[in-house]
Amino acid sequence: MMEKESILIKGAKVLREDMQEVHADILIKDGVISKIGKVEEKAETVINAKSEGLAAIPGLINTHAHIAMNPLRGMTDGLSLGDFLDKTSKFDAKNSPEMIYSSAILGIAEMISNGITDFVDFYYGEDAVAKAVGDMSYQGNLAWVILDKDKTTQKGDPISNAERFIRNEKHIGVNPMISIQGVYAASKGTIKSAYELAEKYGKNVTMHIAETKFEVDEHRKKYGISPVEWMYKNGFMNKKLLAVHCVWLNKKEIKIIANSGAVSYNPTSNMKLGSGIPPIYEMSKNGARITFGTDSVASNNSLNLFEEMKYGTLLQCARLNNPSAITAKEAFGFATLNAANFLYGNRNYGIKEGSKADIVLLRKSVNMTGNDLVNDVVYSANPSNVAATIVRGKLLYRDGFDENTARVIKKASKYISEHLPEN
Ligand SMILES: [Zn+2]
Repeated sequence: MMEKESILIKGAKVLREDMQEVHADILIKDGVISKIGKVEEKAETVINAKSEGLAAIPGLINTHAHIAMNPLRGMTDGLSLGDFLDKTSKFDAKNSPEMIYSSAILGIAEMISNGITDFVDFYYGEDAVAKAVGDMSYQGNLAWVILDKDKTTQKGDPISNAERFIRNEKHIGVNPMISIQGVYAASKGTIKSAYELAEKYGKNVTMHIAETKFEVDEHRKKYGISPVEWMYKNGFMNKKLLAVHCVWLNKKEIKIIANSGAVSYNPTSNMKLGSGIPPIYEMSKNGARITFGTDSVASNNSLNLFEEMKYGTLLQCARLNNPSAITAKEAFGFATLNAANFLYGNRNYGIKEGSKADIVLLRKSVNMTGNDLVNDVVYSANPSNVAATIVRGKLLYRDGFDENTARVIKKASKYISEHLPEN
């Protein structure tokens, strides 16, 4: 893995934070964008963006993933969420730290090669995921999942496991978080304890909410109100919450969700599991901070935010018979600034001087010849356009991985194929 370095990107088409395009050089030093404009200084690595036809965009942020489920790709296709959870929880029950680590290496490699520079993971065994993040020089918000003790496949008490992870986690680039499986697997007492833990350590919370009609109907049968109203009534809806899915909402619930911290919109997963189409347009109009997530490769089957941006935008247009329900600029903002603002609550993101250098260079190949870069990124780009991925100022990907990283990926792949439990 390449160590801290200086990188000079010469003559790139740069997508600034305000989504204006400029031609400029970008100098990266000590993990930070130190200068944009005409740069005369020298750097250890020089990328001639002009001659290669590269455009620089801020790194994409995936706000919902379960990367330890990597070996399940293609193994749950065509199942309903109920059957899907049956099959995946059998896999989860047999998952070991070594397996989680190797799966995480592959998930991180996929995200890096797809132009994703940061993510929120949602699983147990996040200490093994954190080791993978460290070994790949990557970064991530790793949310240890909490649910009722009698419903979990993790060993021991999920709450003390999550606390142990938060207290002991030291890898550079790792920010621990807390996740809650959902109202169908976590009682009021369990959710309350999860929030108390988050409060104690100043951490964010993320939770699957109103993903399927079945979840909402069952909750209504049991408590007389929907999961969102129940969460609100119990004081669990606040700015610390990243609410995932939010497919089945009425008008009142849309307003409640709009006051949470952020929403993770996972269009591919919602389509693939037949869950439905979330009212993203309405949530956004009510002030919700929308972000994009891939979910796991078991319900996607890739960690590709270009697809989420495109499908997510088009789904809303199709649902509302309105071609501008969500614009490309809005979608790009969901995948970048909105996520950064929720996760870090600061302005240290985007291509501007002083920001953390999370940058993706896209090769403007024949599929990206439009005259508007944002439209090209949202509607036309795909991972084959990713020429370079820079995370915290480190060049992690340059038309492929360096030899050391390629070796780590190969080893992880070999471990999985040799140790994948029988179904
Ligand atoms: Zn999920």
